[in-house]
Amino acid sequence: GIKCGIVGLPNVGKSTLFNALTNAQNAAAENYPFCTIEPNVGIVPVPDKRLEALAAIVKPNKTVATTVEFVDIAGLVAGASKGEGLGNQFLGHIRETDAIAHVTRCFVNDDIIHVSGGVDPIRDIEVINTELALADLDSVTKAVERNAKLVRAGNKDAAARQLVLERVQAHLNEGQAVRALNLDADEKLAIRDLMLITAKPALYIANVDEASLKNGNANLSKVQAYAAKEGAQVVAVCAAIEAEIGQLDEADKAEFLKDLGLEEPGLNRVIRAGYALLGLQTYFTAGVQEVRAWQVKKGATAPQAAAVIHTDFEKGFIRAEVIAYEDFIQYKGEAGAKEAGKWRLEGKEYLVAEGDVMHFRFNV
Ligand code: GDP
Repeated sequence: GIKCGIVGLPNVGKSTLFNALTNAQNAAAENYPFCTIEPNVGIVPVPDKRLEALAAIVKPNKTVATTVEFVDIAGLVAGASKGEGLGNQFLGHIRETDAIAHVTRCFVNDDIIHVSGGVDPIRDIEVINTELALADLDSVTKAVERNAKLVRAGNKDAAARQLVLERVQAHLNEGQAVRALNLDADEKLAIRDLMLITAKPALYIANVDEASLKNGNANLSKVQAYAAKEGAQVVAVCAAIEAEIGQLDEADKAEFLKDLGLEEPGLNRVIRAGYALLGLQTYFTAGVQEVRAWQVKKGATAPQAAAVIHTDFEKGFIRAEVIAYEDFIQYKGEAGAKEAGKWRLEGKEYLVAEGDVMHFRFNV
């Protein structure tokens, strides 16, 4: 599955947020029987209003969303890259994720101890980002040394790789994230086996207090300015409120959100932002058994999209029947879309578009 690691200093609200996310998972557990539930891993359905709109037309037995796996990575502290705390273990967990959600504390509450004194999200962000860059620097420096032996032995590939490694090393030495280097596809390939943490896409989650949800606050603004420089997204939530929302049944939830002036739980924005980080797009299948969202890489062809459902679908792929999402809704389903000339048969080369409603024809 696709994994998004939740990182941040202690006491910033990671577990509170993670538990709220996991609540959404438990509520939907019957639809996700394939999910094994580990204490620090939550498999969370991605909220998508289009699924409900499709279901209103098709009236299926069930509706299944795509999922993102969130991993709560507690225990990162200053010095983690030097083995402080259980540093190496935590960094290992982060290395295995596909993307990073960095939680920062923007709420002030004197009862809750801040590990570094007062609330200062930029200082906190830099503590974590420095540890992550140092961990990467360590990996790259070892790789440079290993690779140098191959270069000396006259290996041409190794010589090309060494140039990339040294560039990445110099960049990390400046405390910069590898993702900011904008490496091309070949260069990325050259360092892929290192699973560098700062090469992964990242977003910031600003944990604010309730009042700041509407009006913002100075700390949130600082995080937004910092993230803008990196081209990273910021999602502001109040983790404490999200945890409360998670405890409510559907009717009370709607009422509570209305009182707060919110259209949906902030968690939904976190989940969608995590999903967006991974460069995925969604297509749908819409049968009476189930209406379902599937995730596929941007730029995927129809057979690659079919493979997400089953590898046999790709091997035996003949054609895909495709209706754009908007057409499916406008013409109230397949029959209407066909009548309006919006139903297409596409071949192997077809590039899947966001929201396509697809049905695959294949040989078994
Ligand atoms: P972690 O160490 O980052 O996982 O932080 P926790 O989720 O355990 O939160 C640390 C403390 O901050 C707990 O006492 C939480 O109840 C509290 N906390 C978390 N989020 C919020 C919030 O949005 N507002 C307030 N006031 N307290 C929060």
